Amino acid sequence: MRAAVMRDRKLVVDTVPDPEPGPGEVLVKTLACGICGSDLHALKHADKMMEMAGDSGGVGGGMDLSRDVVMGHEFCVEVVDHGAGCHKTLAPGSRACSLPVLLRAGGPLGIGYSNDVPGGYGEYMLLNEMMLLPVPNGLATEFAALTEPMAVGWHAVQKANLVGGEVPLVIGCGPVGLAVIAGLKIAGAAPIIAADFSPRRRELALALGADVVVDPAETSPYQEWEQRATLEGAGTGEGLFAGLGPALKPAVLFECVGVPGVIDQMMEGAPRNARVVVVGVCMEADTIRPLRAIGKELNLQFVLAYTPQEFAETLGFLAEGKINSEPVVTGKVGVEGVAGAFEELASPERHAKILVEPWRS
Ligand SMILES: [Zn+2]
Repeated sequence: MRAAVMRDRKLVVDTVPDPEPGPGEVLVKTLACGICGSDLHALKHADKMMEMAGDSGGVGGGMDLSRDVVMGHEFCVEVVDHGAGCHKTLAPGSRACSLPVLLRAGGPLGIGYSNDVPGGYGEYMLLNEMMLLPVPNGLATEFAALTEPMAVGWHAVQKANLVGGEVPLVIGCGPVGLAVIAGLKIAGAAPIIAADFSPRRRELALALGADVVVDPAETSPYQEWEQRATLEGAGTGEGLFAGLGPALKPAVLFECVGVPGVIDQMMEGAPRNARVVVVGVCMEADTIRPLRAIGKELNLQFVLAYTPQEFAETLGFLAEGKINSEPVVTGKVGVEGVAGAFEELASPERHAKILVEPWRS
């Protein structure tokens, strides 16, 4: 089959062996697969990613960089053939999504970060039959392929433990920030404040459900947050509390940038008692000043991926039209276009999500 292959830190197009389904596995045709920021990171920092996966139990472990990897973990597929022992609940031709994990006797393989099974930047993949989620009637393939990245946002919102009344602030409106905004909208949090230097990303943030967008070059996102979170009718405090500032609604801040320095900046800007949810994936050493967090008793929550239930719920939200997915998909390429798409994604003004359609010529 044709695939875009990560080989010697480059993306090349090559013909690789068709995968063959083992027991309980299904051979599927990749209909669409989103290019993820993690894949851009993997190409640049694969060694660091593996080094860290070793001590965090995270994704990206188990790759041998001297061997080929077909990346791609945000996919919608079509069932082609069943391996031994399958129940054939989904007939060939059915469309499906799945968590990007292949469960095998030797342990789970991360689809898209494995030497042993291909990810969605190739024409075919293998999935466990028991993991297949049929695409609900009528949901377009390109939007079903957004299940994985959108599930990341939904999970981050679950991890924020919202109890109601919080005013959320999302820092960074790339694909991760947009997914968080979509999740917050579904959760009913309001007003959602989002900040990004890029005008295009601020526009997308509004389309996905942000109520207020801020250009940090002009306005402090934290000042904007404070204005929107000030309880109506509340004064600046009296008696013992005089001068302590206005009463504020609880804060939940989402870090969706993933570059060094951002967590510390957010800790500086965060109001007292805020919860900071770190969704961005910083691959480098990063410095924080604990005293900033101590003084304000901040709560720092790191998150990864999603649960199978959150993944399935997200596919449902997309099918029910609860996520405005249309503006998110900004480009489509075949396998030949993957390397170029990786370069284009470096500029926030052009693209949000580019889908690989491996069968596209
Ligand atoms: Zn991803």
